[in-house]
Amino acid sequence: MSDRKYIEATSAINGDLCDFSNRWTLDGDYLRCRFCNRAQITNYMDSPFPHAGSCKPTRVLEPQPWRTFLALTTELARLAAPQADGLGGKGGGNGVQ
Ligand SMILES: [Zn+2]
Repeated sequence: MSDRKYIEATSAINGDLCDFSNRWTLDGDYLRCRFCNRAQITNYMDSPFPHAGSCKPTRVLEPQPWRTFLALTTELARLAAPQADGLGGKGGGNGVQ
C-alpha cells in the first residue's frame, strides 16, 4: 500500500476512533459510557451495555461498544501489518505531528 493510501486509510480510522472516544472511555479492561460512567468488562462484550437508568446520551450509542472498538482496532492492525508485496503496511514518517 502506498504511503498516501495508508495515510488516507488510517486517517479515516483515526477519525472513527476519535468519534468513538466521544462516546466511550477505555479504562483498563473496561469501557465506560461517557454519559453515565457505567462500565462493561470485556467478558460481556456480546451483552447489551449496562447503562444507568438515568443515562441520557446526546446521541445514539451502539448497544455493544466493545464490538465497535474491536472492529476499529482490527482494521487498524490489518492496515499496519506487513503487506505481501514487501512494501510493509506502514506509511512513512514517525507519527509525530
Ligand atoms: Zn450510559
